[in-house]
Amino acid sequence: MKIAKLKGAHDFVIEEKDRPEIGDEECLIRVKACGVCHSELDQWANTLENLEYPRYIGHEVAGEVIAVGDQVQDIKPDDRVAVWVDQRGYATEVAVEADRIFPIHDSVPFVEAMAEPLACTTNGVIKANIELADTVALVGTGFMGLILLQQIKLKGATRVIAIDIRDEILEVAEQLGADVTLNPGKENVEERIKEITAGKGVDAAFEVGGKQATLDLTAKIIRMEGKLIIFGYHPGLRKIEDLGYWNWMAFDIINAHFRDLGTILKGADIGIRLLNSGQIKMKPLITNTYPLEDIEAAFQAAQSKPEGFIKSVITFR
Ligand SMILES: [Zn+2]
Repeated sequence: MKIAKLKGAHDFVIEEKDRPEIGDEECLIRVKACGVCHSELDQWANTLENLEYPRYIGHEVAGEVIAVGDQVQDIKPDDRVAVWVDQRGYATEVAVEADRIFPIHDSVPFVEAMAEPLACTTNGVIKANIELADTVALVGTGFMGLILLQQIKLKGATRVIAIDIRDEILEVAEQLGADVTLNPGKENVEERIKEITAGKGVDAAFEVGGKQATLDLTAKIIRMEGKLIIFGYHPGLRKIEDLGYWNWMAFDIINAHFRDLGTILKGADIGIRLLNSGQIKMKPLITNTYPLEDIEAAFQAAQSKPEGFIKSVITFR
């Protein structure tokens, strides 16, 4: 089998290895697609401290079951599945515990079936407890924001406001149900939100961009006692610009980051069921696909975000 080994900064090589052995409660998966995650860019660029190399990354896997362990029930060879793995996903084959495997419908292409990001967005929307007729803002509408948008609509929000500095992404947000789109590079978002909400601010805002600027903007557009949901990927230092203001406004601060495996798997199960039923659309989000040999180019695109870019996925024949 082939697997991508990350040797150091911007240095993938494709290795030839033996097929992984599977335990009694594991399955062997023929990988058909593995999404490139924003959270992997730091490992690829070697910008985090104390990381050891080589590393085998890749965790957004979909594929076909090749073989099942003796104790595995309800999963059989040739089943089409999305799986949750924490590493080794950029490979032609991967071994996975059976309880981390989620069947996908025949109508769902492998390239759209990513359990891990769907687990994050599903759990985020559940934890935020979005309510009927809420007005909700998304500050940052890249790949994760565009999934959140659809799930927030499903929860019964009346108005979803998509905020991003890329106009072409805001167009996709509109196609997927955003009621209002705002570009902070071109207009005063705080003023526009005041107009839209009769001076109050939104009921809930998701900080998705993961940057200091998106965090600061999020806090400026929420109503008194509204919800501030910290969703974006936030490695390293972030500062709360004015904790006094957050306190005075009585924000309900929700940390939508999930570590417990049971929570993650439950979110993945719900997210994949929404995908299977057609209630979430992933097709418009998958903009860039690459064979394993071009994994460097896939990461370059995820880093530089060329015009129209939303998501890189490694695909396998
Ligand atoms: Zn991910």
